[in-house]
Amino acid sequence: MVLPGAGPGGRTLRLRLRPGRVAALLAILAVLAMGAGAALAWVSAGDSAALADENRGLRAALAALNDRLGRWEGGASAPRGPVGPDAGVAPGGVPPRIRVAVARDGSALAVAAPGLSYGGTAIGGGEVVVERRGDALALRGGGPLAAGTPFASASGPVRVAGQAAPGDVAFHPTADGGLVAVAEVEIERYVAGVLAAEIPRGWEAAALGAQAVAARTYALWRRAGAPGPFDVEGTTADQVFSGEEPEAWATAAAAATRGMVLVDRGRPAAAYFHAACGGRTEDARAVWPDREAPSFPPVLCGRCARSPFASWTVTVDAGELGAALAPAGLGPGPTTGLRVAGETATGRVAEVVATAGGREARIPGNELRRLLGYGRLRSTSFAVRADGPAFTFSGTGAGHGVGLCQWGARGFAREGLEWQRILAVYYPGLELRRAY
Ligand SMILES: [Zn+2]
Repeated sequence: MVLPGAGPGGRTLRLRLRPGRVAALLAILAVLAMGAGAALAWVSAGDSAALADENRGLRAALAALNDRLGRWEGGASAPRGPVGPDAGVAPGGVPPRIRVAVARDGSALAVAAPGLSYGGTAIGGGEVVVERRGDALALRGGGPLAAGTPFASASGPVRVAGQAAPGDVAFHPTADGGLVAVAEVEIERYVAGVLAAEIPRGWEAAALGAQAVAARTYALWRRAGAPGPFDVEGTTADQVFSGEEPEAWATAAAAATRGMVLVDRGRPAAAYFHAACGGRTEDARAVWPDREAPSFPPVLCGRCARSPFASWTVTVDAGELGAALAPAGLGPGPTTGLRVAGETATGRVAEVVATAGGREARIPGNELRRLLGYGRLRSTSFAVRADGPAFTFSGTGAGHGVGLCQWGARGFAREGLEWQRILAVYYPGLELRRAY
C-alpha cells in the first residue's frame, strides 16, 4: 500500500519476498538475536524454523514501514479523491448508496412489516407474498407487480423471508427464473452491517477498522461494475450482511474509517478478504483465473495461528466423494483415487487428479472446494490421503486466501498495529484515500 508522503511503502514488503534479501535480513537478525552459532543452526533447520525466522524478517520490514508511515495519521489528513469516474463517488460529496440483494428465491418471497406499503399505497395486514409469474412478478392472489417499485414501512424494518432489510425493498425477476429482493442502503450503514455479520463481537478496533475499509472498498468496486438491479449479494458470494440495526461497536468501527477506501490506479480496488490464510495469502489470479485480478501480491501473514481454522481435518466417504465429483467428468461410483497434482506459488492445491468408474479427471483446487462445499473443505491448503473406504483432507486456513486475512488482522491488531498499517500488510501496492 502506498501512503502519501511515505514513498513507495509497498516496496518494503515486496523486497522481503526476494529470497536473497530475506536470507540477508534473516542472517543479520539471527546474528543479533542469537549469535553466530544460532545463525548456523538456522541454515540447517526445517521448514517451521525457517517460517519462524521469516516472520521475524516480516516484523523487521514492518518496523521499517511503520517508521516511514509515522508522518501520516490517516483520517482527516488523508488526501481526498479522485477515486475514478466509474466509482460514482465524488470527493467531498455525500456517501453513495449500495444496492444489496437481501434475499432470493426460485419462486416466491414473503414481505412483511408493520404499516407495509407498496408504491405509496398501504397494504392491509402488513404481509404479502411476491411471486414469479411468467417473465414478470406478481402479488400472490393479486395483480402484476412492477419490478423495482419499493415496498416501504411506516414503522420498523421491512422483512423479507423473515430477514430484516435496512430500508425500502424492491423486487426484480432474475435470469434463472426466480426473483431477488434488493434493499438500497447508505454505504456507511452497509459497512456496519457487514462488520456485524462478518466479525465476532469484541475484536480489536484496529482489526475492525481494517475490515471496514476492505468492506467499503469491495462494495464500491462491485458497484462500479454492476449493471444489474443490485451491486452486492448479502451473502458469502460477496459480503455477508446483516439488515438488523447494527450494534454500537459495528457502527463506531465504520465511523472510525468513514469514507476511507483503497484505490488501484485511481479506482476502488477489488479488496477481497477471507477468514484465515493459514500463513500466507494467495494470489487472486491463482483462485480466479477468469476474473480481473487485483494488483496486490500474496504476502506473508503468520498471524492467524490462533484462528479456529489453524488446523482442520475432514474425512469424506468415497461414495459421497464420487457423487460430489461426478460433475467434473468422472465415471459413476465411489472415488477410487485422489491425489494432488499441482500447487500454486504459495503452496496451495492448484489441481487434483480424481479417479472413479474407470475415468480420471483433473479438477482445480477451488473447483474441488465448490463441489465438496466451501464450508466443508475450508481451504485449498490441504493434503489428502486414502483412509480405508474414505479420503481424509488435512488442512489449514479458511477461505480463498486472497487479500485481508481476518484472523491475521486481529493478530496484528493485538501486536499494536493500527488499521492503516494492517491494510498495508495485506494490500501492498494499493493507495488509501478518502472518497467522501
Ligand atoms: Zn493469515
